[in-house]
Order: sequence, then C-alpha cells, then structure tokens
Amino acid sequence: MRTVNRKHEEQDDLLPQTRGRRVAVLLPYPFPGPFDYRVPRELDPQPGDIVLVPLNRREEIGVVWDGPPDNSVGDNRLKSVISILDVPPMRADIRRLVDWIASYTLTPPGEVLTMALRVNAFRPEPIPSGWQLAANPPELRLTEPRKRVLAALADGLPHAGADILRTADVSPGVLRGLADAGLLVPTALPITPPFSLPDPQTPGPTLSPDQEAAAAELRAATAARDFSVTLLDGVTGSGKTEVYLEAVAECLRAGRQALVLLPEIALSSQWLDRFTRRFGVAPAVWHSDLPSRVRRTTWRAVAAAQAPVVVGARSALFLPFPDLGLVIIDEEHETAFKQEEGIIYNARDMAVVRARLCNAPAVLVSATPSLETVANVEAGRYRRLHLPDRHGGALMPEIGLIDLRDTPPERGHFLAPPLVADIHDTLARGEQAMLFLNRRGYAPLTLCRTCGHRVQCPNCTAWLVEHRARRILQCHHCGHTIPTPTSCPECKAEHSLTAIGPGVERITEEARATFPDARILVMASDTIQGPAAAAEAARSIEAREVDLIIGTQIVAKGWHFPHLTLVGVVDADLGLAGGDLRAAERTVQLLHQVSGRAGRAEAPGRVRLQTFSPEHPVMQALLHGDLATFMAREAAQRKPGNWPPYGRLAALIVSADSADSADIAARNLGRAAPHGDGITVLGPAPAPLAILRGRHRRRLLLKTRRDIAVQPLLRDWLASVPTTSSVRIDVDVDPISFL
Ligand code: ADP
Ligand code: ZN
Repeated sequence: MRTVNRKHEEQDDLLPQTRGRRVAVLLPYPFPGPFDYRVPRELDPQPGDIVLVPLNRREEIGVVWDGPPDNSVGDNRLKSVISILDVPPMRADIRRLVDWIASYTLTPPGEVLTMALRVNAFRPEPIPSGWQLAANPPELRLTEPRKRVLAALADGLPHAGADILRTADVSPGVLRGLADAGLLVPTALPITPPFSLPDPQTPGPTLSPDQEAAAAELRAATAARDFSVTLLDGVTGSGKTEVYLEAVAECLRAGRQALVLLPEIALSSQWLDRFTRRFGVAPAVWHSDLPSRVRRTTWRAVAAAQAPVVVGARSALFLPFPDLGLVIIDEEHETAFKQEEGIIYNARDMAVVRARLCNAPAVLVSATPSLETVANVEAGRYRRLHLPDRHGGALMPEIGLIDLRDTPPERGHFLAPPLVADIHDTLARGEQAMLFLNRRGYAPLTLCRTCGHRVQCPNCTAWLVEHRARRILQCHHCGHTIPTPTSCPECKAEHSLTAIGPGVERITEEARATFPDARILVMASDTIQGPAAAAEAARSIEAREVDLIIGTQIVAKGWHFPHLTLVGVVDADLGLAGGDLRAAERTVQLLHQVSGRAGRAEAPGRVRLQTFSPEHPVMQALLHGDLATFMAREAAQRKPGNWPPYGRLAALIVSADSADSADIAARNLGRAAPHGDGITVLGPAPAPLAILRGRHRRRLLLKTRRDIAVQPLLRDWLASVPTTSSVRIDVDVDPISFL
C-alpha cells in the first residue's frame, strides 16, 4: 500500500499517455553513465538486453543497464528505444564486471562496455552454405572436372563448397557451371557443435603424493561451487599444470565450464597439445586476433554452454559463460596480464573478481608468485598449495654466476669464456643450449665516435635500436624507423657511427662465429610472429632440429624442452637498471622462469648468469634458489613505507602536446593533491619516458595506507582540476610500469 504521493507519481496518474516507461541504456562511449530512453509500448526491454537506440542522429547499439533511470532529461527531450536485438542479452555477471572494472580503474563504464562488446557477437551466424546433387538432374554431357564434382557428391549429402573444390580439384567456375545447369542445388549445411566435450574420465598421469594432495584440494574447491582463491605454487617443472588439469576434470564432471587464462596465448602451443593429450579434444581458444567467424562461433558456443573449457587471453574474461565453475590464472605473476593501454587493468585481479561474481573458485598458478599474491596468502585471504619438487626426480638446475669483472668477454664480444666453454660442452654432448637476452635487435644504441652524438627517436625519450639485418634503426616505443645512417646525423662524420651494447641479433652473430656448426634458432617477437610460428619453433626444438636457441623474454615462458640442459643469461643485470619499485622482484621472477627451462627431464640442467654484481641480493637469491627469503626481504622493505602490497598505489600520467601544457596541468594536479593521515602524493615529475609519440608526459603517484581506498580520493582529485581537451590524464591504479 503506497501512501506517499510523490510528485511524479501524480503526474503518472494524470498524464499516463505521455509519461511512458524509461530505461537506462549504457552506450559504448566514454559518457559518465547510462542514458535514459523511452520504452515504446510494444517493447519490454529487460536489463542486459542489447538494444538499438538513437544517438546524435545515428543508431547505436547499447545495453539496457540495471538500476533506475536517472530522470535528469525531461520527457519532451527523451528519445525512444528503436528495437531489441534478437541476440543473447548481456549476462548480469558481465554487467557487474563492467561496473566493477569501471569503478576500480576510474574508467567511464561505457568504455569498459566497449571492451566487453568487442568480445560480443551480434551478427547472427551466417548459415554455412553447401551443395547437393539436384533431385532430378537434367541430361548433360559431362567434362572430366564436372564428373569429378558429381563423384564428390555421390553420397547425396550436402558438402561445403570449399571441400568439394578440394576433393574434386576443380575451380569455382566448374561448380557454378553445374549449378547454373541445374545439376547442383545450394543447401544449408548442418551446424555442428564446434567444440567436443573433453572426456573428464580419461585418466591423467599418476600423481606423486604431493601432487595428489594438491589436486585433491583443488577438486574439493571446485566441487564446493563457491568462491575461493587458491595459490598453487611450486618450482618450475613440479607438475602444477597436471595438478590444475585435475580441477578442470572435476569441473567437467560437474557439467560446468572452466576458464584458463594464459598470459600469452600465442606462445601456448605446448599447453594446447598437453590439454589435448589429457582430455582427447582441444579446448576452445580465445584471443583478440581470432578471425571474426571463429570468434562468433566460439562466443555462441560459450553462451550456449557448448564450450566446456576456454583457454584465453585477457579478453576471455568477458565471455558469457552461463555456468562458470572454475577460473585458472596460469603464470599469475606475469606482467602481460596488465593491460597498459586504453583501460589500464590487471586481468589477473579482474579474473578473481569474475570468479567471485560467479561464485566460482579461482586458482592462481606460478613458480614465482607475485608479492601481492603472497601477501594475500599471508593475510589469510588466499589459500596456498605448494609443490616442493620437480616431477620424476628431475633436479632443479645448478646455477652459476659468471662475474664479468673477473672473466670478461673478449673485446667486442658479449659471451664470457666460461659460458662459451659450457655451451661447447653442452653441444658436444648432443644437448641443447639457450641464450637469453631481453632485448630485440642488434644494438640498443648507436653512437658517433667523433662527436658523441646518440641517435635518438624524434618522438620519444628513447634511443633508436639498430636492426642490422633490416638495415634500419627503430624506436621500440613508437615504431619510428629510419634507414641506418652511414654518417653522423649531427657532425656528418663518415663511418663514425658505432653500435653500443648487444641485442639478440648481435648475440646471434657472435654465436654463429663462435659455434659455427650449431643450428641456431632466434626467438624474439619480431622473428617469431603469431601462434603458428611459435608452435613451429617449439616443434623444431622438441624434434632436436635446433642446437642453440637465442631469445628474448618469449623463451622464458612455460616451455618444456626435454633436451635443453644449459641456459645462459647474457645480461642478468639488465632488468635492475631502471630501479623502479618492482625491478628486483620482476628480475628474480624472469630469471627464475628462464632458468626453469633447463634440465626438465633426465639430464641435469645448468644455468649461467653473466653479471657485474654477483653480490646483489637478486643474484644471490637465484644462486641459492632461495626465492622465499628474497621475497620476505622485499616485503620487509616495502612494509614500512606502505608500498604495495602493504599500501595502495595509483599513478596519474599527464600528457600534452607541449611541455608547457603538461607542466601546467601537472602543477594544477599537484596543488589539488589529496592529503591526510596515511596519504602521500609524489610528484609531479617528468616521466622517465618524458616524451612518448610526441606527447610530453608528467607523472604523479598517490600512495595510501591499505585501509584507505584510492578511488574516492582520485575521483575528487580529478574533479577538482579544470579539464582541457589538449591534456590527457590517464589513471593507473596498482601500477606495474613506472615509465
Ligand atoms: P609446471 O607446470 O609446474 O612447470 P608441468 O605440469 O609442466 O610443471 O610438469 C612438467 C613435466 O612433467 C611435464 O612434461 C608433465 O607432463 C610432467 N609431469 C608432471 N607431473 C607428472 C606426473 N605425475 N606423471 C607424469 N608426468 C608428469
Ligand atoms: Zn619513438
């Protein structure tokens, strides 16, 4: 019984014909929130429905959002919903995820919606067309190609056009000719479910007692059908993947769907093979480079619960699982989970949110868990399962430091004599070796010996990197490319430019000269492009067609190469140079991961780290294989100053066309900075990448105690400064990169 007679209800009663129903519709644009639309009588839109609405004289797709309309626009100015699209609505859990990400990252919800909609598939599946023999074919003299087509269709069933062309080995013209003559009729092909059901009953490997204990816990967490977070950590090669596949099997037995996030799906051919071996069929794969047809089929299969397991990159978080029963985040420490452009978010953290929204367990997997995750374990928020040993008695590799001050490489070389000797030794035994250097190209710097000029990018605060084989210098930040100059751009001296420092291309040159008989494979993002190339590289290594692998960080990923027994790190100090908050943590993780590629089968592995500072805690931690002590030390250093994970951090990155505009905006922000107990603002200061793609950049850093939420502070802060169209302010909550 309603006794309050609010004003608009009165109006409702008085003017029922003009005061129709309103709905809030979220549009894929950076507006602050959803817009109201009038609902025509014949429609009944519900939250999640995908609708067509007018916007600035165009028709736009939007999503009916939850919550009441905001009523700020008067009835007379209200536009009407045009239609409801006949596609599956956006699920409530995805709408909540969009809201959550928007509010956590301070991104307008419509922008997050854009990301979620990109994953969507609005266009109905085109009916795949095929051909069939006509029921009453006319009499016709047949050429040989035509006979072959009829033979290919002799079973009377419809066949896909492409298949017929292949089987009969004819051109499309032959097919068309037969159709025109009335011998063939076009037919819709039956739509086969795209993903078969992995068989959860196929037995996995016999697990060791440690593995079985961990698997039992994960199975129980999956069977509980409730939100929980478990860290599964264990040394490289300890069988973490086998263990979490047991949880996937449990999820499948319960008839539910599982999502596995991998940091770099293009480098995951071995993972996919492994899954197929375990379950008899391949999983559905999701990433942003899928052809649109595959994308649509996959999206629909997920929505129809016909894709039991999806393995994907970040964007798989937005897939419409009707019954998500398990979320696994493999290599959870990987910075590749952090999206740094556009909406700045960490897919690892959002995956945990997604799991919570679906009441599903999340499992974080890593041999080198992030300090964030370890802190969550220590605070009792996450459970931890630990696998202490490598599988099958394989030992952890033996680690050695090569002090470059004592045993420097020959002049103009980069591989020190002890490392060269170890490589010779390894190759002589018929085993494989790997050299790791996290730098593409030939040399990171080109210097003029006459005037000291360093060749810089005109658009960025960065040197141009030489790519010798391609005869170019290139900026690795903006892609700016010039032909390698023969004279100094500054003093015009001829033949005075010299390459300083190595990239993998230069190491390869040296390796070719030093190990002339070795078959060398270079693995860097510019030599191995795309999943097919990566899979082929992995295959050739497994097949022992390669003796020496030289690569950037892509070789550090979860590869399993049984014959690889030596890993040489060309420049172990490289990652420590920048000296940001996480430099040491990241270096330990990366070098431990790359070390973990060595000696994964029977033959023992060795790792050689070339360094100028063997006494550095990072090198000592790697040498003694004692990551726990190192992480505890990191933690102890971060605690007092409230550095993450013991405090919260958010960066503001101001960028503008001119240095002056950037400075003014940054100073305005600095003056309006929030203050209070447990709140610190650092900056403004020029970003290390002070100019990027021609834009001048300044940074401010907000640091708070953990019990203080940064979002409200940031919201008020940003609202208190004037905005101009020429200045852009990016918000990076929980920053990983400080460039
Ligand atoms: P991690 O994920 O911890 O690096 P993996 O799961 O990749 O370790 O295991 C390393 C190798 O050992 C893989 O080839 C895997 O198939 C094998 N392996 C692990 N556990 C077992 C087991 N219980 N039985 C047989 N093979 C195993
Ligand atoms: Zn540049």
